[in-house]
Amino acid sequence: MTRLAVDPIACTGHGLCAELLPEAIALDEWGYPLLADGELPRELLRRARSVAATCPTRALRLVQTAARSAATDA
Ligand code: SF4
Repeated sequence: MTRLAVDPIACTGHGLCAELLPEAIALDEWGYPLLADGELPRELLRRARSVAATCPTRALRLVQTAARSAATDA
């Protein structure tokens, strides 16, 4: 499972990421990113990688997390 993550220390709140990927990133009232919960839709992965590479402070990245299975949720 791939999702977005932001380093809150490195992020300076430019808001560029939300402009480039509004489907997955909104901004809070101070201009800092609010990331969509959960897995990035497959069709957004390429753009998300590009947006992460565009972040001026390298605060945005894609991370891989283990998918939860029904067996472990029981
Ligand atoms: S582009 Fe980078 S520095 Fe700017 S708001 Fe997004 S994560 Fe933060």
